[in-house]
Amino acid sequence: MTGLMMMNRSKMTKKERVIAFENYLEELYQDARCELNYSKDYELLIAVVLSAQTTDKRVNSVTPILFSKYPTLKELANASVDDVAQILVPIGTFQKKAQFVVGIAQHLVSEQEGKVPNDPDYLVTLPGVGRKTVNVVLSNLYDYPAIAVDTHVERVSKRLGFAKKDASVLEVEEKLMKLYQKKNWSRRHHQMVLFGRYHCKAIHPECENCKIKDICCYK
Ligand code: SF4
Repeated sequence: MTGLMMMNRSKMTKKERVIAFENYLEELYQDARCELNYSKDYELLIAVVLSAQTTDKRVNSVTPILFSKYPTLKELANASVDDVAQILVPIGTFQKKAQFVVGIAQHLVSEQEGKVPNDPDYLVTLPGVGRKTVNVVLSNLYDYPAIAVDTHVERVSKRLGFAKKDASVLEVEEKLMKLYQKKNWSRRHHQMVLFGRYHCKAIHPECENCKIKDICCYK
């Protein structure tokens, strides 16, 4: 990484800055992967939906309870929303999330034989499921090429000047899809999530120890 120590933003092209960032991500997070725990396809889908406005750690604290009380998707589809909500209290907005969980289970059981299909157009119609969730789920389950833009990916992209400060989530996603090779989209998503979560944090980012601070726009 000695090359990174001599970077000068004004003398580098955007492409060179992107490559420097990708090299740094590879140095920091070789084994980047989703930090949500799951053992079945629908468990990942539900865990990602539950992760809105909370941390993966909190989600991982409630999903074992949820999936042991309702060990099949069919049982989850027949569960009382209020009972599910009680389990989800620690992650916030639990009543709404419980409706999403039971609703997703009901749709998958009645329409997809209990499977999570490799079909983004279908998945985005499920309760509580948006584009980011679809991208995370399909890239993990099916190696579907996608860059899910969550709060970490968005923040890091804007701080590094890869996307404008006022860019929408969709615009950030489109920018990143142009900057990275398609075969790396999913990997870069996971690495950027970890980079944002543990290094380029929302509050008090670790700029002093950051090897790409010379190419960063963040002040
Ligand atoms: S210098 Fe700071 S703001 Fe910029 S990428 Fe590094 S940690 Fe993030």
